[in-house]
Amino acid sequence: MGYKVSREDMDNIFSRMKERYKIYAPKRGLKYIRYGEINALSEIVYDEKSDFSPKEVFYPIVQTLLYFTEDTCTESAPGDARDILLFLRPCDMNGIRRLDTMFLKNGGQADNFYARLREKVKFIMMECREGFETCFCVSMGTNEARDYSAAVRFDENGVFLDVKDPELTPWFLEQPENDFKPEFIRENEKHVRVPQIPDRSMLKSIHALDFWHSFDEKCISCGSCNTVCITCSCFDTADIIYNETSRDGERRRMWSSCMLDNFTTMAGGHGVRGSAGERMRFKTMHKIYDFKARFGEENMCVGCGRCDMRCPKDIHFSETIDTLAGEMEKLKDGKVKES
Ligand code: SF4
Ligand code: SF4
Repeated sequence: MGYKVSREDMDNIFSRMKERYKIYAPKRGLKYIRYGEINALSEIVYDEKSDFSPKEVFYPIVQTLLYFTEDTCTESAPGDARDILLFLRPCDMNGIRRLDTMFLKNGGQADNFYARLREKVKFIMMECREGFETCFCVSMGTNEARDYSAAVRFDENGVFLDVKDPELTPWFLEQPENDFKPEFIRENEKHVRVPQIPDRSMLKSIHALDFWHSFDEKCISCGSCNTVCITCSCFDTADIIYNETSRDGERRRMWSSCMLDNFTTMAGGHGVRGSAGERMRFKTMHKIYDFKARFGEENMCVGCGRCDMRCPKDIHFSETIDTLAGEMEKLKDGKVKES
């Protein structure tokens, strides 16, 4: 059912909803637009792209998994009992589906710490008809998402809503009905050729491409591109002992990044990807080949373009993918330079 809701009414609905839900949306901070809890419609930044993705709402940057003493171990509690309403764009909804695959379907066992927060989340999809400079969602096939609890269009007087979730409908019954249905962007400014890698037979040649060395000097291995990515899921774990003489402590997990130079370092100091180019090759192939080869149908990257905005060295992942597609064509024609 569709509704038109004024700003004042929406703020009143938000304040009543807060007993049942925590409401998260992109908010303006000192420097960045980042996800945080909101109380009013005016706090939502809907006409700019957020610098950070919504994943930190249900996959925290640092999360305590368990508490331990010398002879006990207790799982951490999930905390706030309320469900979560999350305002986000179609590309991010598609990105979260990929995160779900990584955390819930990979290896045959769901990650309980991810699942217990993720199952609380309801999607309020922010209509995205025009996109932004670095977006390439259309090339990645992620410009549409329909599995939302509600969709919203903002205007200066309030919002239009398409409410699908019966649990949300009662909050809007007193509002004027409307036939609003969200529209989706059909063309980005940026067009990206996505490399088509039919099988493993080309991987050795791709691995050996001279092109990867171009990142050795330029990329500073800061990991910023992973941090803002809606589909990056890697984490590290650490046991924190409360003081020097204690055996009591907690195990935490925190986001990590395949672009950091020590990401693959093992006991004894050996690492398998020693240069920035090798790390870029790994990330690129994971985003546009490995995930799809393992789980089928869709590539991991959803073309949100946040990594292109965030890179301090102006490395554009969209161009990396596009250039690789060109190198693949040359490989097929036998004209490429391997290292
Ligand atoms: S790799 Fe870049 S464009 Fe692709 S989903 Fe991650 S942040 Fe977005
Ligand atoms: S590509 Fe850019 S953001 Fe990513 S690790 Fe390299 S320098 Fe940092």
